[in-house]
Amino acid sequence: MPRSVSSPSTIEIPRLLAAFDGQVITPDDPGYDQARALFYGGMDRRPAAIVRPVDAAGVARVVTLAREHGLELAVRGGGHSVAGHSTTDGGILLDLSQLTALDIDLEGRTAWAQAGLTAGAYTTAVGAHGLATGFGDTGSVGIGGITLGGGIGFLVRKHGMTIDNLLAAELVTADGQILEVDAERHPDLFWAIRGGGGNFGVATRFRYRLNELPSIVGGMLLLPATAEIIAEYMAAAEAAPEELSSIANVMVAPPMPFVPEDQHGKLVIMALLAYAGDAEAGERALAPFRALADPIADMLQPMPYAGMFPPEEEGEFHPTAVAHTMFMDAVDRRMADTIMEQLQASDAPVRVVQLRALGGAMTRVPVEATAFAHRHSRIMANVAAFYDGPADRERRQAWVDGAAAALQQSDDGAYVNFLGDEGPERVRRAYPGSTWDRLVEVKRRYDPGNLFRLNQNVPPA
Ligand SMILES: Cc1cc2nc3c(=O)[nH]c(=O)nc-3n(C[C@H](O)[C@H](O)[C@H](O)COP(=O)(O)OP(=O)(O)OC[C@H]3O[C@@H](n4cnc5c(N)ncnc54)[C@H](O)[C@@H]3O)c2cc1C
Repeated sequence: MPRSVSSPSTIEIPRLLAAFDGQVITPDDPGYDQARALFYGGMDRRPAAIVRPVDAAGVARVVTLAREHGLELAVRGGGHSVAGHSTTDGGILLDLSQLTALDIDLEGRTAWAQAGLTAGAYTTAVGAHGLATGFGDTGSVGIGGITLGGGIGFLVRKHGMTIDNLLAAELVTADGQILEVDAERHPDLFWAIRGGGGNFGVATRFRYRLNELPSIVGGMLLLPATAEIIAEYMAAAEAAPEELSSIANVMVAPPMPFVPEDQHGKLVIMALLAYAGDAEAGERALAPFRALADPIADMLQPMPYAGMFPPEEEGEFHPTAVAHTMFMDAVDRRMADTIMEQLQASDAPVRVVQLRALGGAMTRVPVEATAFAHRHSRIMANVAAFYDGPADRERRQAWVDGAAAALQQSDDGAYVNFLGDEGPERVRRAYPGSTWDRLVEVKRRYDPGNLFRLNQNVPPA
């Protein structure tokens, strides 16, 4: 195990190393740059040490050391934080990537999953038994971050959000205790970690419900983007049976092999659809989408659910992006016109308005049951653009802000898992009204010193 110490700002690091039996990586170590990289580029922070515990006791030791010695603590699961919260300058990066055990109870239809697993690894493993828990749209996202923030993906209308399938968690709190939390034990914490993010402790494992899902019909459908087709698509997505969840990316067609060359650079709807049910009913549910226009590419097919998460290139792709998360009431023809106008007004090579029709199972969980407060929002939207360097960032951000303002309707909420580093006012949009007050109360009880503050922070005071 490499054990060099180089950061003068953190004189406690040698003690940390002595007390710790997992892997420790410090700035002099050859693997340091790779270990500190996040999914997104443009976040060049240098932790004094990256520590990789192998069990909950190791996590508890790191938490205690950070608290006792006033070291800034970042917690990392899959490293996909949109805000760059899962790293630190000069503090400790607690990297959970070694915690990958998965214990499936086939009879009880539940699984205990350690928090270092990715959504893709979990989905593939439980999928081998014809079972599934819904996470998001990307396999490399960590189950830790997505679960604690809510989790909205391809099963949201049929089986609800990830947190609606969370039965229990093991949590290391700021005082170094290892707690099991569920509806009976520490119900206040169990409420708060279902949507409240990493504010309340380090989750070391999660117990999920497993839903039977032997196969789906789904994949990608690429349609030409016109205002009419966008509006009709969203009407179809909202009218579809609950088995069907979808994500419509209105974007510039990428130069990918399945996109005909004459479409490159044109606006398209890159739709990802998943029908969680049998093939025949799936084909029927997908027919209205196929009928919207002559598809540019139609890759919808029966497949295992894990087929929605194709393998990703590891470590090479670190996009720099600006984005705005929001909810919308409706995308009618006029709103679809606005979406087209906004996308046409930018020349960012990658720019997108992402639309997800919600509804179904997620709306049947009472709003006050979890810390996710947007159960009745109709559509989740995300406006995003890639940028290349600081000057480009500024103008892409201006476009994102302008487009988001143009799309804003009555629902002024935000989804915490898609928030960037946007300041306290935007965090409040994720936790409106009494949700915020309750979160503050739980925070005061379990993390009065705000040790867990590198997140969409709910300060104790
Ligand atoms: C390409 C991409 C696609 C996405 N798609 C979706 C989607 O379809 N649906 C959706 O709901 N979200 C989606 N997200 C958002 C995603 O849910 C969040 O970015 C989430 O925080 C990522 O989790 P992570 O463990 O990979 O991130 P990390 O960067 O490792 O963690 C993010 C934050 O979560 C907290 N955290 C993570 N693990 C733990 C833990 N075990 N204990 C305590 N705190 C922890 C920490 O505060 C940390 O700063 C997507 C993000 C990306 C980049």
